[in-house]
Amino acid sequence: MKAALQTDWRLREETPIYGKPMDVVDGIRRIVAPNPHSMTYHGTNTWLITHAAGTAVVDPGTDDPAHLDAICGVSGTISHVIVTHWHHDHFDGARALALRANVPVFKFPSGPLKGDKDLLHGTEIAGMQVIHTPGHAEDHICLERPDGVLLSGDHVMGWSTTLVPPPPDGDLGDYIESLERVQALNARIFLPGHGPEILKPYSFIEQLLEKRYEKLHQIENILTHEVQEFSNICNRAYPKLNKKLRFAAEMMLETYLLELKKRGKAIQEPTGWKRAGY
Ligand SMILES: [Zn+2]
Repeated sequence: MKAALQTDWRLREETPIYGKPMDVVDGIRRIVAPNPHSMTYHGTNTWLITHAAGTAVVDPGTDDPAHLDAICGVSGTISHVIVTHWHHDHFDGARALALRANVPVFKFPSGPLKGDKDLLHGTEIAGMQVIHTPGHAEDHICLERPDGVLLSGDHVMGWSTTLVPPPPDGDLGDYIESLERVQALNARIFLPGHGPEILKPYSFIEQLLEKRYEKLHQIENILTHEVQEFSNICNRAYPKLNKKLRFAAEMMLETYLLELKKRGKAIQEPTGWKRAGY
């Protein structure tokens, strides 16, 4: 497997060949779905996990017939279709793949899109343990194997920080708590929902946590005792932003502001936000 190209803290890689499986670790292959986007990097990673009863497919990605053909072509018997969370770039192909393979869709029971079978925190499936990790999405799960491999979905990605939407789907406090929990597992490798694998997950998460606290602090410092409009705060918190990412920045900012409110540091007014206290 080609080594990830380290530019800044982000882990980059060349555009993959869509439809071609890559051996990542023993018994685990990756096929990248053809849905590249500013929010998905080269596309969604579909993980094929070989185990005693066949192949478990984690995150079928988009409902793209060529991608589903590629998955079926190399999987042999598909034993399970599992999704890490309900977001469309992970879930949309699940139903079609499950129909082809005649197996149920397994997922955590909450979220706007439902599976056929519930995967609760602590459940064992295809040799992996389910860990509920809300923050990016309320139903997000990671899957931990006994060999130190953790499928991290969009909870931890190497190519970018994770978008944490405001409640009810996301929550910064939940996200940080979930990050600390997966960090404490001391896994040797994370296999994410987008981009290349993460080889030093413990220190990688350390950096992610630092960045989140820095940003929270920065936004707290932008607030004044005068109410400022949300869009002005966004311009100051995310200057020089690519226009395509404005909606993501606005979601993230709302999440940070709500976290500051929860911590007693920010007050929401009808016209905007201001600093709490004197
Ligand atoms: Zn995703």
